[in-house]
Formats: sequence, structure tokens, C-alpha cells
Amino acid sequence: MSDLKTEFAEFVSKLAPYYQKPKEKPESFAKRLLSSVYLEEDDNDSNELLPRTYKSYYYGDSNITKPAKIILKSPDFANFENFIETDNEDTQEYLCQVFEKECPGINKDNYPVKISNYYKALVERAGKGRRAKKPTAESVTKEADLKEKYGATLVAEENGHCPVKGCPNSLFIHSDGNSIENYEVLVIDPSLSKNKQHNLIALCPTCSRKYLLQRSADQILQMKELKKEILQNAKLQESLADEKIEDEICAVLDAIPNLTQAKDVDLNYTPVALKEKIDSQNVMLLNRAKAHVDLYFTPLNEKFKELEATRKFHYERFCTQVRFMYFKFRDQGMDQLTIYNSMVTWLKQVTNGDEYCCAIVISYFIKDCEVFDAPTK
Ligand SMILES: [Zn+2]
Repeated sequence: MSDLKTEFAEFVSKLAPYYQKPKEKPESFAKRLLSSVYLEEDDNDSNELLPRTYKSYYYGDSNITKPAKIILKSPDFANFENFIETDNEDTQEYLCQVFEKECPGINKDNYPVKISNYYKALVERAGKGRRAKKPTAESVTKEADLKEKYGATLVAEENGHCPVKGCPNSLFIHSDGNSIENYEVLVIDPSLSKNKQHNLIALCPTCSRKYLLQRSADQILQMKELKKEILQNAKLQESLADEKIEDEICAVLDAIPNLTQAKDVDLNYTPVALKEKIDSQNVMLLNRAKAHVDLYFTPLNEKFKELEATRKFHYERFCTQVRFMYFKFRDQGMDQLTIYNSMVTWLKQVTNGDEYCCAIVISYFIKDCEVFDAPTK
């Protein structure tokens, strides 16, 4: 993992996506990078290094002290400007992005000079024999070990979805009845302990790559905030899961088929609450909820009141649970119809109730509770 990387390995990993040739071995790429800044004359020093050593430079297992000393005898960083210069705008944009921290003020005009200067400084630092960060026993923990040790817990607290805001990816891919892992376990803040669950997060491969490439102080802070939110939600969820869905709601569900449906319903009238809360483009959902509310709102309302009077049923508490589930689904980026369907499925699972009756109850809560936020006017 990049936490353990030397500065050179970090540098290599930023260039590799665009500069390592297809099928070029890591050791060849590392060698090519180092040779590109070395004015080879009669020196055979650089050829003495074994490919295995280049490989360890590439992965950051050892520092480039030795080649750096050789390079500094006869450096040619101007050549590296040619090496890195490209007409491809995507590559230019990428470079400006990933070297933003190391090369302040980098842009599409100055990137060859900026990156070359940074490379030079890096080689000079390495040549002075500054040692690579010595891995502590803890930091030796490999990514695979972290995944094995913490993966399941992290995925559970994230409800199986990539927690990055706006990311639609699931942490599992379902195919032919099997689920395949679709996540990486990442260290949020490399300066803190790596072997602690609160400093780890499971992200989909896309978000993982992005985070590893741009792990700036700002990004780390944002990721910490996200983790805090995840932990809070998980805690809340735990306490709600402990709280059993009240038996009475099952009684409500059982009672629905026998409830007297409302009569003389004005079919042209849609309750304001529904119109306000359901996106008007969602005709199917609006119609479905309207049908439920038209027919069952009043009798259900009476049923709830009746139960509340027995003091065995706490309407507000149940409402909170329903709302909580709503937030949970909403925060996963679901659209209204998917949220609705997910809530029906949830109620069906926890009550073992009939799906149609569960749908009626959820529709009831859309009208009566803060399920679906009314748009701000
Ligand atoms: Zn993601």
C-alpha cells in the first residue's frame, strides 16, 4: 500500500497509468524512469543493478539511494521534460491533478518543468541517503490482511454500499446467485494506526483508486468526516435493530384486509401531502400511494389511534423507525420509487407481513410522516 511507499515509488505510481507501456514490467519502467535523468557516458554503474532491485524501487520496498548517487554525478533532468511532455490533454489534466500537492501552481503549460524539478529534488533527497520510512511492525500489515480482518465489519457498517457521496456502486456484485467482492479496504489517515477499524474504510475500486491518488490533507479530512457519519449511522441502526418492531404493527398489517375501505372517494383529488412529497414525474408511485391513501388512510388512522389507546403501541416511535429507514435508503442515493420499494421490502421482512399491506402502511407514512422530504419552496 502506498503508505509504506518511498517518495520515488509514489512518484512512479503517479506516472505509471499513462507512462508505463502496456506489458512493460515494473522493473523496466523503474529503470527507464531513472535512466531518463541520467546522462550516460562511460558509466556502467547503473547497469550493475539487478532487475529485482528495480522492482523494489518501483514498489517502494527500498529507497533509490544508490541510483540517485549515480544520477547526481551526471544528471540530465532537462531530458525528463521531454520524457514527460505529451500532447494528450487527458494526460496533461491528470498530471496537473495528481501533482498538485508536490508542484504548487502546476498547469498545462508548465507541467514538464514543474514535475521535472520535483523529480530532481526527490533524487537529491534520496541521494543524500535519507532513509526510507522504516516500516513499523504495524505498518507491515498488508492490505489483504486488513481486508480479511476488517472487510466484513466495514461492509456491514456501510450497508454494502460504497459510502462515498453520490457513488452508486455496491460493494458486492451479484452474478448467477454468487456475490463477488467489489471493494478495497483503505487506510483513511496513513499517519495514524493502520490496524484500527476506525481508521479504515471499504470503498468500491473506483473510489479507492481516486482516494489513493489524491490523498491530500483535505481529502483525508473529508474521509474522516464520512467515516464519522458511517459510525454514527451504524450505531443508530444497531440501537434500532435491537428495538423490535412492535408486535402491534403486525396486528395492523393483519387487520388491513378487513378494514372497511373509505367510500365516496374523490378520485380526482390527490392529497396535498402526497403531491408535495412525491416527485411529479414519478406518476406510477404517486398513483399507487394515492390509491392506498384514498382507500385506507382514514381506517388506518383509526386503527392506530385505537392501538395507541392501549398504550402498547407507540405511534411516534414506530414513525421514527420508518423515518430512519427512509433516511438510510435516501442516503444511499436511491430514487423515490426505489426507496419506496425498499421500505416495503424492509417492513415485509421485519413483520413477515403481506407485501400489499406493507405497501399500504408505507404509503400511509409518506402522507403522515416525514417520509420523502417535501420540496423546499
Ligand atoms: Zn464508490
